[in-house]
Amino acid sequence: MTADIYQKIINELKERQVTLIAVSKTKSFEDIKALYDLGQRDFGENYVQELVEKYEQLPKDIRWHFIGHLQRNKVKYIAPFIYLIHSVDGEQLLKEIDKQAEKNNRIIDCLLQVYIAKEETKFGLDENELSLIINASQQFNNIRIRGLMGMASFSDDESIVRKEFKQLKNIFDQYNFPILSMGMSSDYKMAIEEGSTMVRIGSLLFGKRTSN
Ligand SMILES: *Cc1c(COP(=O)(O)O)cnc(C)c1O
Repeated sequence: MTADIYQKIINELKERQVTLIAVSKTKSFEDIKALYDLGQRDFGENYVQELVEKYEQLPKDIRWHFIGHLQRNKVKYIAPFIYLIHSVDGEQLLKEIDKQAEKNNRIIDCLLQVYIAKEETKFGLDENELSLIINASQQFNNIRIRGLMGMASFSDDESIVRKEFKQLKNIFDQYNFPILSMGMSSDYKMAIEEGSTMVRIGSLLFGKRTSN
C-alpha cells in the first residue's frame, strides 16, 4: 500500500462525493492500521471470523462493512458492531439480521445485493425478488434498507461491465435509497461514471491478494 495511491483515489472520489470502502480481506492488522493512520475509517471484509478478530484488535472508530456472502448462522457474531451489510440476498437472512439487531438493541443498515453479472457463481436478487424483499422489509423494525449493491462480470470487455452498471443504476433509480455500492479495483472509474455512491476497493490499495 502506498500513500500516493490512496491519496489519488481519495481525491478522485471526493469530487463526486463517492465513499471509499477499503477492502481488507486477507490483509494484516498492520496493513489496515497503516491505511487507518492515513485517515481511512471504512473497511470491508468478506469472512465473519476474520472480521471479528480484526474488530477486536483494531481501533473502535473503524466502520466495518460486510461485503461477502453472509450465512444466517453467523449473523450473531457481527450484529453487535457491524456498520453496513452490503450483501443481503434473501428474506430469511434479513429476518435473522433483524432478530440479532434487536437482541443488540441496534438498528442495522443493510444493502440488498442485486444479481447483474453473467456468472452463475455470483449471488444476488433479481428485480422481482428485490421488489418482494423491499416490501417484506417493512415488517422488520431493527433493520434499515439503505440501498443496493452489485458486482459486474469479470470481463475485459468494457461494454459488458458498463451495461451491467447501467442496469443496476436503473433499478436503483426506481427506489429512493441513498447508497449504490458498485465498483471494485478494476472497474471503479466506470462505476462512478455510471452513478455509484460507494466503491469497494481492495487490491489497488493493498496490493494483490495471495488467496481469495
Ligand atoms: C474482494 C471484493 C472486492 C474488492 O476487490 P478488488 O478487486 O481487490 O478491489 C469488492 N467487493 C467484493 C464483494 C469483494 O468480495
